[in-house]
Amino acid sequence: MEHRADIAIIGAGFGGSLMAMVARRLGRSVMLIERGTHPRFAIGESTTPLANLLLQQLAEEYDLPQLLPFRRWGEWQREHSGIGCGLKRGFSFFHHTLGQAFSDDEQRSRQLLVAASPRDEVADTHWFRADFDQHLVNEAQRLGVEYFEQTELTNFDEQPAGVTLGGRRNGGSVRFHAGFVIDATGPRGWLHRTLGLAKRELPMMPATSGLFAHFNNVGAWPSAVGAPYPVEDAAVHHVFDGGWVWILKFNNGITSAGVGATRQRADELGLAKGEAGWQRLLAKLPSLAKQFIGAELVGGFVFTPELSFCSGQITGARWALLPSSAGFVDPLLSSGFPLTLLGIQRLANLLDGGIDLADYERRTLAELDQVSRLVGALYASMGDFELFTALTQIYFAALSYSETAHRLGKPELAESFLLRDHPEFGPATRGICESVVRLAKRKEVLAKVRKTIEPFNVAGLADPAKRNWYPVNIDDLFSTAAKLNSSESEIREMLLREQLL
Ligand SMILES: Cc1cc2nc3c(=O)[nH]c(=O)nc-3n(C[C@H](O)[C@H](O)[C@H](O)COP(=O)(O)OP(=O)(O)OC[C@H]3O[C@@H](n4cnc5c(N)ncnc54)[C@H](O)[C@@H]3O)c2cc1C
Repeated sequence: MEHRADIAIIGAGFGGSLMAMVARRLGRSVMLIERGTHPRFAIGESTTPLANLLLQQLAEEYDLPQLLPFRRWGEWQREHSGIGCGLKRGFSFFHHTLGQAFSDDEQRSRQLLVAASPRDEVADTHWFRADFDQHLVNEAQRLGVEYFEQTELTNFDEQPAGVTLGGRRNGGSVRFHAGFVIDATGPRGWLHRTLGLAKRELPMMPATSGLFAHFNNVGAWPSAVGAPYPVEDAAVHHVFDGGWVWILKFNNGITSAGVGATRQRADELGLAKGEAGWQRLLAKLPSLAKQFIGAELVGGFVFTPELSFCSGQITGARWALLPSSAGFVDPLLSSGFPLTLLGIQRLANLLDGGIDLADYERRTLAELDQVSRLVGALYASMGDFELFTALTQIYFAALSYSETAHRLGKPELAESFLLRDHPEFGPATRGICESVVRLAKRKEVLAKVRKTIEPFNVAGLADPAKRNWYPVNIDDLFSTAAKLNSSESEIREMLLREQLL
């Protein structure tokens, strides 16, 4: 069978399907080629305010109103209650010493709660990917995308006139001819392997492994009276020296849980052994283990020996890797979705002639490097929660500043992820991360973090009086309006427009 279109997209995860929908709206004919079938398990579930804003921007810019309900918990529940998702009001962190029960003090020095939204209605979500990705692939087809599942590609042939992809489908051979190919098959994906591309080092990132699964009947982590939000309506992170566990609860009874750990810690725990490794980990985290007493595994465990990856080349004359195929650092900062969505925006811009491939490659790699430095520094400080907490403030300051700048219609204030290209913030935060990994004096590092984020701190972060609990406080935005080159009335208008008041 021979098929022909302007664009071939390989991989029908949310990234491939969204890219396909946007390309259709740009008037291109699109083939979407998937190795497996939907619904299927996929990891990568937790959104952030920036990811949801980027989703909203794609919906608005490319006339895709069907995506809008997915940007917020409330709309999603009303319009797509059959598509599983979780409520995410914020980011919860608890610091554990291996082998000991979790305990805290008056200063709440072993926890950090950062609210991302003031109420459930406008809150972020965790995507139950089996449902969500299947829905998106159906939506893509409704827009005229030609979808080919259970297709095993084997050949890539690039000629001046276009690319031919060869493979097998329904027991026969199949060929796809396209002017441009986008690979959305994930890290170490199809094009990277087929073209034999080199790997690229991610700066300052230690080798880490991951082990994860879905469960039913996971118990509750104790709630805290007066907390900025119910602590489990969040991406919950349990941090320990050398690693961290995530817990994400969905509204269909399923909980996603997993661990990321340095190679050394993963080997000590025997994470490669799957369930036995998980049980060994829980035995060292007795307070967390209580949550899993009645838990039942759904499907199996997945072990990833090496989480981080970066391809040495991410574009060619007639092809590009989505950021999610170009590289991956570690899920600690939920950076996968925003980077993927930024990549889709940029590739759409590229198809429109707005930017070129070199620009796309430069920005994608630079942002992966920025995430890598920060996550590397966070791993280096997992045994020292005060330092870890200070470093997270870089992430939260950049995130809240960027989100607000975009919502105010001032994208020029925050064009790159984590403010990577900002002339002061970018180099200063890179310097801080390097000094953490070089084990510089922690007091100086703590002071430098506070000084660096101050001009971008629009969320009342890094305030010792708050004892590590950061609710959304709208007054913070009014009092810091000048940092966003804005007046109080501009802030008020934006908050009303976004239903945040
Ligand atoms: C453990 C872990 C946890 C994560 N948690 C988060 C998180 O909480 N938040 C966040 O923002 N990001 C997270 N990420 C990153 C996130 O998973 C990715 O950003 C996201 O999945 C990218 O989506 P995608 O659709 O581009 O790719 P994928 O979800 O990887 O989908 C790839 C698709 O391509 C298909 N495919 C693969 N090979 C082929 C082939 N040869 N031919 C055709 N099709 C193929 C696959 O079947 C699949 O459908 C996490 C990643 C990991 C590893």
